[in-house]
Amino acid sequence: VAALQGAISNIDPRLARVGQVIGPDRVVITGSEMETYLRDWSGDGRGQALAVLRPATVGEVQACVRVCAETGLGIVPQGGNTGLVSGTVAEDGRDIVVLSLSRLNRIRAVDSANLTIDADAGCTLQAIKDASEAAGCIFPLALGAQGSCQIGGNVATNAGGINVLRYGMARDLVLGVEVVLPDGRLWNGMSGLRKDNRGYDLKQLFIGSEGTLGIVTGVGLKLFPRPENIETAYVGAASFEAAMSLLAVARRACSDMITAFEVMGSECLAMARLVDPAVVPPVGQNTPVHIIFELSSSRLIDARLLIETVLSEALASGVAIDAVVAQSQAHARAFWAIREDLVEGQARRGYHVRTDVSVRLGDVPGFIAAARKYIETQWPAWISQAYGHAGDGNVHFNVLPPENLAESEARRLGADVTAGLYDIVRAFGGSISAEHGIGRSRRDVFWAGLEPVQRNMLAAIKSAIDPQGLMNPGCLIPLAKEKT
Ligand SMILES: Cc1cc2nc3c(=O)[nH]c(=O)nc-3n(C[C@H](O)[C@H](O)[C@H](O)COP(=O)(O)OP(=O)(O)OC[C@H]3O[C@@H](n4cnc5c(N)ncnc54)[C@H](O)[C@@H]3O)c2cc1C
Repeated sequence: VAALQGAISNIDPRLARVGQVIGPDRVVITGSEMETYLRDWSGDGRGQALAVLRPATVGEVQACVRVCAETGLGIVPQGGNTGLVSGTVAEDGRDIVVLSLSRLNRIRAVDSANLTIDADAGCTLQAIKDASEAAGCIFPLALGAQGSCQIGGNVATNAGGINVLRYGMARDLVLGVEVVLPDGRLWNGMSGLRKDNRGYDLKQLFIGSEGTLGIVTGVGLKLFPRPENIETAYVGAASFEAAMSLLAVARRACSDMITAFEVMGSECLAMARLVDPAVVPPVGQNTPVHIIFELSSSRLIDARLLIETVLSEALASGVAIDAVVAQSQAHARAFWAIREDLVEGQARRGYHVRTDVSVRLGDVPGFIAAARKYIETQWPAWISQAYGHAGDGNVHFNVLPPENLAESEARRLGADVTAGLYDIVRAFGGSISAEHGIGRSRRDVFWAGLEPVQRNMLAAIKSAIDPQGLMNPGCLIPLAKEKT
């Protein structure tokens, strides 16, 4: 222990104090061990930090934060590190520690009568879903990274995913949060109440704050009765206009039983094949737009009849050109694998322009057409990939650089490609961040696009809660010296 304490102290004497309060074995300083904490899933950059702190209890988180506040160490809270906007990747690590929540991974309580679950922030999303299922309920937040991302990270980023259409984003699913404030005090905002109108709703400040206001250590979440009927269809459409017409028809017919409506341009299949070369979509692979459409209901509603009726009407009217309803859970999983593989395939291909934008539902086809045209005319050697949670107006319009272009050059040009795409988003009155957040990679464009009154309010909130600016410095809000 003494040797470890000495090694920590040699890196920075301030760390020795952290080692004293949580134990030196919970302070990671060796390069190889730190590496996984310094790169997020996107691989877009390598973060810097003096050390990674791994507290195991809320009390230890408080103790770490108190030492940091007293000694002027900035803190980057870290969940599963699956974020896609460099929120956990600090550029300058001289006065920074990463604080990992991974050891806070206890399900605290499942209350199936109140339809709620309380959990430590470091539980993976999958662990929350499994515990909810075991109680005959569901926690509906669902995203590709659910085996690794943590519920604290989901709350801190206000994550979206495939079920937003019916259940909303993380913000809509959170009933309470427990937060360690930047001075080490604990705020217990966990009540389990669905209606609570006592003044400002403070928890909302921390949802989507990306670690810039405090460390979420506990979360109280809404559960829903587990649907007994789930029907999944893979549908082909001739265009994104037709796909959005199908959504409109289906929403009228099925009301809020639609749990997912994902679209993929056929060009995305090549990326899915990088992961599984045997991928054969259930509808013809040259069909311009592929859709995964899911309904879920209680036992008393015949979801199969409903989905078949909607699809046969869509086929008859020409809104859909082909459709297959999954005959088993394995069949449905194979549909979803195509959607997941295309994301993984893009990562395997290497650096690419990644966007996460939203426009009004009626503008989805027009936005995709304008973005494709921009790439075809301005960047003809680059390859567009249009897919996303179209039911929420959320499009991931990504662009692959030419294969022979060096990565450094692709990244340099990629910034210009992205800027052009954001101009198109702005022309449609859309958002440059539908669900991934701002982090560091979108911070400057976000900040530049704000009205002065918005900047003032954001800066006022930040300095009221984190006057020393120690929480995730440079994420979401520019550092003081960069604001002007
Ligand atoms: C394959 C794949 C698919 C994805 N699909 C989706 C999707 O469909 N929808 C979507 O919204 N996102 C998606 N993401 C992005 C990512 O999974 C989410 O942003 C997720 O919510 C991040 O959680 P995390 O625990 O990994 O957080 P991290 O990456 O560790 O952190 C993200 C941000 O939250 C902060 N933070 C983390 N934990 C805490 C905490 N306890 N307290 C305070 N701040 C904290 C960090 O400082 C950072 O700013 C996907 C990512 C991958 C890799």
